[in-house]
Amino acid sequence: MIIEKLAGIPRALRARVRGLRMPRHGVVYAGCGVVLAMLGLCGYSLYQSREDAIARALDSSRDVATITERDIARNFELYALSLQAVADGLARPGVLDSPRLRREILFDRAATGQYVGTMVVIDAAGNVVLDSENDVTRGGNLADRPYFQIHRDDPSVELDVSAPYDSRLRPGSRSIALSRRLSRHDGSFAGIVALGIDEGYFTSLFADLRLGQHGSVSVIRTDGTVIVRRPDDRHVTGRDISKTGFFQKLLAKDEGSFSANSPLDGVERLYSFRRIPQLPLIVLVAESTADIYASWWERALMIGSLMLIFGIGVVVLSVWLAAELRRRQRVELELERLAGTDGLTALPNRRALCETLDREWLRARRTGSVLSLLFVDIDHFKAYNDTYGHQAGDAALIEVARCIRRAILRPGDCVGRYGGEEFIVVLPDTDAAGAAVVGENIRAAIGELGIAHVGCEFGRVTVSIGATTWRPDLETDVSVVIRAADEALYSAKAGGRNMVAQMGVG
Ligand code: GH3
Ligand code: MG
Ligand code: MG
Repeated sequence: MIIEKLAGIPRALRARVRGLRMPRHGVVYAGCGVVLAMLGLCGYSLYQSREDAIARALDSSRDVATITERDIARNFELYALSLQAVADGLARPGVLDSPRLRREILFDRAATGQYVGTMVVIDAAGNVVLDSENDVTRGGNLADRPYFQIHRDDPSVELDVSAPYDSRLRPGSRSIALSRRLSRHDGSFAGIVALGIDEGYFTSLFADLRLGQHGSVSVIRTDGTVIVRRPDDRHVTGRDISKTGFFQKLLAKDEGSFSANSPLDGVERLYSFRRIPQLPLIVLVAESTADIYASWWERALMIGSLMLIFGIGVVVLSVWLAAELRRRQRVELELERLAGTDGLTALPNRRALCETLDREWLRARRTGSVLSLLFVDIDHFKAYNDTYGHQAGDAALIEVARCIRRAILRPGDCVGRYGGEEFIVVLPDTDAAGAAVVGENIRAAIGELGIAHVGCEFGRVTVSIGATTWRPDLETDVSVVIRAADEALYSAKAGGRNMVAQMGVG
């Protein structure tokens, strides 16, 4: 017999098929995992590009602040030198009396340029005593100007830059004054020399800066007064922001960056500032956070939407795939079940039976327990077919199969159709006495069915049963037990049929 060989192959195949099976919902979990991983990657790269946008904005605002600071510093240094020249010239005798000397000595080195206004000398009482544009001074009193008062009231201020004021000399234009204190020999206040610088200087300086739609650039005095600002706002220039926490951040260092809401218009911006050396001025450059993130948001929304569609697609696909896999697994299981089932009697077929026997044999060998086998064969069944026809023979086979199944009671017991009109009953953990009892029950039960069979000496359908019991060891093969049962059956047939015979009790 080659039963064990037949049994081995399908079992291995089935084990492989089982190994390939996806756990329930596994595909959905895998799909969700892929989506989550993609979302994670996408989120990380968006986060990185957001950081990059900030870094780029910061770099550009720092650069703009540096360039602006250098431009202002260079120009104001020249203006300050002009003021110094006037202050030095005034000390020379006779200068004030001669218009020629005044022009040559005092205002010869006076800064000139598109935005440079009149340079004036003001005495301690605030009277304009000299101006660079006229030999005969126009006169007037500027004691009310803050740039005059600051020098008069605070001797420590050498050089000052004023807040913008409406020019009296040039109506309609706004200027800031760069002023220097004049001191007598005893150090007392002698007046000031001041230079008007048109606000247009800053406007043209800021004109070409690209700071986005809501960006801003300002020059602020170290006392908190806003000197000039773009976007231009007349209500903003001259405002005092010294009390704000915002301004304290500007004072904390010579240069730096921070993100804050503007105390002037409330817009959130990323600010870079630089203190102008030698001058009481701070340059403040900012891009609005909304502008910085505008293109990032556009990209994030586009990538986010695509990812969402992709994610939903993958999840839907994996749900569909999981359903399809489950359906296939069900079909596979059904096929597998059918492959092991006898079509006529619905009992396990020879293949399944051999697998069970093989398994039970190995288990018994492992546990050292006994295993019994019954070989059940219908007596004179050929004659039954010949007498009653093949269909009746089939019906009788079904009846006999049912009867055997009813007769075995223990859950571990198993009956299968071995072939033709032969059945095998596997009885694990059953000794010879037990096997004899079960065999006898089956034999009697089939006899009691009372299926008429004139070709049989008993007048009804009967079975002969060969029983064998073994305690498997390493030397014995499972084929031996089947052969022994077969031999027992042969002796039951030889002994007159309708009986149980035992053989090969291991
Ligand atoms: P014995 O008492 O010695 O066992 O004699 P027997 O006639 O039962 O044994 P034999 O091996 O000569 O004949 C078996 C018969 O079983 C042959 C065949 O007609 C019948 N048979 C086998 N399979 C089927 C089946 O599926 N349906 C039907 N109706 N008959 C079957
Ligand atoms: Mg037979
Ligand atoms: Mg027979």
